Amino acid sequence: MSERPRLTVLSGPSGVGKSTVVAHMRKQFPEVWLSVSATTRHPRPGERDGVQYHFVDNEQFDKLVANGELLEWAVFAGNRYGTPRQAVVEKLDKGEPVLLEIDLQGARQVKESMPEAQLVFLAPPSWEELVRRLTGRGTESQDVIDERLAAARIELAAEAEFDTTLVNTSVEQVAAELLALLGVA
Ligand code: ADP
Ligand code: 5GP
Repeated sequence: MSERPRLTVLSGPSGVGKSTVVAHMRKQFPEVWLSVSATTRHPRPGERDGVQYHFVDNEQFDKLVANGELLEWAVFAGNRYGTPRQAVVEKLDKGEPVLLEIDLQGARQVKESMPEAQLVFLAPPSWEELVRRLTGRGTESQDVIDERLAAARIELAAEAEFDTTLVNTSVEQVAAELLALLGVA
């Protein structure tokens, strides 16, 4: 039997419920380690630096890229996002599971550099429900919502590139399925 993959990538269109599912899972199992990305996006109300993201300006992001400190990075809906390499490598070296919540472009880069990674796609029950969730979250302007929905069409078309698809109908159920894929429960 092959060893369980240690690096898991969770992707899916904006608004599908990635953060909600991961937060639910980590409430039950705080030991599940999630990489904290760097981003040039501004914090949403309630988001704290170093918790949801490391919020950086363009110059700081340029430095992270130039110094090779990011495992992968991408531009998503007008902002840059990247995974700090060191923390991920340290966890993997210790044999501990690592979870990345990143976009399609990032997932492709990880697959390229770490082919043993497990790629999980979180899909919405329907396009209408995705629009409802993204709009209902109330955190973005209509322009940004439109930009994210355009990206969502591209992401949904790439589902077949992933190893597994989970449909986010029930947060509890998807969180349980993801835990099983992580080998935690
Ligand atoms: P993402 O991190 O993928 O951008 P969020 O976790 O912010 O998405 O979820 C977007 C919105 O959808 C939030 O308002 C969240 O409460 C809601 N949501 C998430 N999962 C579900 C679900 N299974 N059923 C109904 N609403 C959901
Ligand atoms: P949001 O602005 O809604 O928090 O995130 C927008 C998108 O960026 C989501 O698809 C999210 O998964 C992705 N994202 C978050 N962090 C990273 C990262 O480090 N790298 C990449 N490539 N995408 C990321």
